[in-house]
Amino acid sequence: MKRIMVCVMALALAAGCLPFSACSVQKQRNIYKIFAEYADGELQAAVEFSFFNDTEEAFDELKFQLYGNAYREGAQMPPLSAAFASAYYEGKSYGQMEIESVSPSAGWELSGTDGTLLCVRLEEEVYPDESVTLTIEYTLTLAKVNHRTGIAERAVNLGNFYPILCAYERGKGFYECDYAQNGDPFYSACADYFVQLKAPAEYVAASSGQTVSASAEGASKVSTFELKNARDFAIVLSKDFEVLQTQAGDTQIAYYYYSDEEAEKTLRLIADCIAYFSKEYGAYAYETYSLVQTGFCFGGMEYPGLTYVSDALSSQDKLYAAAHETAHQWWYAAVGNNQDVDAWMDEGLAEYACVQFFAAREEYGIDADARIRAARTAMNALCNVQTQVFGQADTSMNRPLREYGAYEYVVLAYDKGLLLFETLEDALGASAVSAGLKRYYADFSGKTATPADLAASFRRAGALSIVQSFVDGTAVL
Ligand SMILES: [Zn+2]
Repeated sequence: MKRIMVCVMALALAAGCLPFSACSVQKQRNIYKIFAEYADGELQAAVEFSFFNDTEEAFDELKFQLYGNAYREGAQMPPLSAAFASAYYEGKSYGQMEIESVSPSAGWELSGTDGTLLCVRLEEEVYPDESVTLTIEYTLTLAKVNHRTGIAERAVNLGNFYPILCAYERGKGFYECDYAQNGDPFYSACADYFVQLKAPAEYVAASSGQTVSASAEGASKVSTFELKNARDFAIVLSKDFEVLQTQAGDTQIAYYYYSDEEAEKTLRLIADCIAYFSKEYGAYAYETYSLVQTGFCFGGMEYPGLTYVSDALSSQDKLYAAAHETAHQWWYAAVGNNQDVDAWMDEGLAEYACVQFFAAREEYGIDADARIRAARTAMNALCNVQTQVFGQADTSMNRPLREYGAYEYVVLAYDKGLLLFETLEDALGASAVSAGLKRYYADFSGKTATPADLAASFRRAGALSIVQSFVDGTAVL
């Protein structure tokens, strides 16, 4: 099937798109149609994936990440370090993503450190503006673990539950991520999602998308979800979920929880976040947003349209995590970046957005200035320790996730990332930073940005050198 590349004036007029200069060409996005059935810790599924070649290159191979294989026994890059062994709440437990068939194809194989990469040779080359559709059948077995992909103690976490196309970098090829114990080792382009899930009827499903339909089928429920222009899709199931709903502007907001004595307050916070970030940076990208309480060994985890928040957090930590993950809807979900080597971009911006939000909304009782002071203290402590141990400190922020120590990663991505935007505010002025972030969001929503793209968005001499000095570790803080 050929893509439609030409913006026909007559169609534009019929659609009400009058100013010709404002009528941009809409590129065809890749499409994932996922048909899945969940029962007893296992997901049987097929993904019908349509690839649209919008590059100038021909493809004879596609590469997909199979993050479920990081949970295999004997994995060299397991998702959690020994320090988080308690996330396996019943002791050691393993999962995997087993590929059963790929068709049509000229062959396929697993590679990557732990079989976390699926390489599919295409039957015919796909030239620019051409497309190909292939179906991957697979079984995902879930470990019992409070983590992104697994059976948590009171919910089933279906993050990263399907083969996802690696991000393609023009002239470089597909970017292959190893799973990493630091950060979020994910990097993908936006696509359209249609997901059908069959699960035992007692489960309530929270998903990244809008629920299109839900119907009973014997003792099961079949739900279909849809989400367009998103770089991932996640689902959480629980038999215990209660649901609170509200609205912020045109956005339908839901809070799925099973243990929260101040659930109304949590719901109000995320509605306030959606409204505040929409005003500060640009309109929220989707029609729905769900915050989902679940078993998760870190504070929270962001997916487009859906956020995990850990059921182990205290009140204030939960509110902070919910705000941080909600900010990721702008910085990660809408504006993407390479989360393997540029993790500070979305983490630093999510922290900066959080600090701005809590400074403007004092009623939540979170001290934004204290957060900034804590970031400076953490940076100083890291530099002192590194200098004592290694003779010098390396605070560069452009290393692959696996090359950081756990504490080093948190300080550099979150604390130093936050301090970068505070420094830009001091140097350029708050209004220039605010205008720059609005521009950055408008220009790169639905796309992937680089550090240079971010710096250029501020349109001020000096922004690039500040960003570069933070990234390469030469900035003195
Ligand atoms: Zn984050």
